[in-house]
Amino acid sequence: MRFLLTNDDGIDAPGLALLARVAGRLGEVFVVAPDGERSAVSRGLSLYQPLRLHERRPGWFACDGTPADAIYVALHHLQLAPDLVLSGINPGPNLGHDIHYSGTVAAALEAAWHGVPALALSHDSRDTAFFATMDQRLETLLRALLALPLTSALALNVNLPSAARGPWRGVRLTTVGSRRYSTEVIQRADPRGRPYLWLGGAQVTMADVPGSDCNALADGQVSVTPLGDDLCLHDRLADLQAALGDAASTSMQD
Ligand code: MN
Repeated sequence: MRFLLTNDDGIDAPGLALLARVAGRLGEVFVVAPDGERSAVSRGLSLYQPLRLHERRPGWFACDGTPADAIYVALHHLQLAPDLVLSGINPGPNLGHDIHYSGTVAAALEAAWHGVPALALSHDSRDTAFFATMDQRLETLLRALLALPLTSALALNVNLPSAARGPWRGVRLTTVGSRRYSTEVIQRADPRGRPYLWLGGAQVTMADVPGSDCNALADGQVSVTPLGDDLCLHDRLADLQAALGDAASTSMQD
């Protein structure tokens, strides 16, 4: 099995090192990852600036673009032809609405879009000290997930309970829940006296949605959500079509 690893935290991040160590026991590992922090860049592609690729050591490439750039370059320039993409392990969960902002999840979706099944992995704690202790349980989990029918166009969003809370209580297939951050915009002055803004609040609220990723993690279970690209609200097509009425069949031209 040939794995392509990436993340949104940069090629030197401890979560990627852990993932590479464990995946290396299950198959061949290649890494193409951003050269630094790219969290919350979503699925951006660098279409209007050059990309630089540096082979740090054999099979490990740092790219100065986004996680989606890294996947694109790995598949279509380096021609690595992986069987599976692994993205992470992100320090901090990617639950509910996080999936729309996360670079970790975006890399998995980008891989799936290009026909390579992918896992995005996130840990429910920003404290990376626990990563050193998660080796064995992560291998057990990966072996279980690799046994699933991982067809192309499938991205699994995997959230790991914090290892600080003890053993993981099994694996649950989940839906996308609801997680909201407080919406502060903090204004401060830079050292030259000019104002700058800092987005995003620290307060997080999770709705109690049975079957959701948030609930699985709250119960100490590994959450696995199958993701695809379809953002269409299929259940709104009929009523919007009806409300559109005559306009739907009206010929329009300038
Ligand atoms: Mn990150």
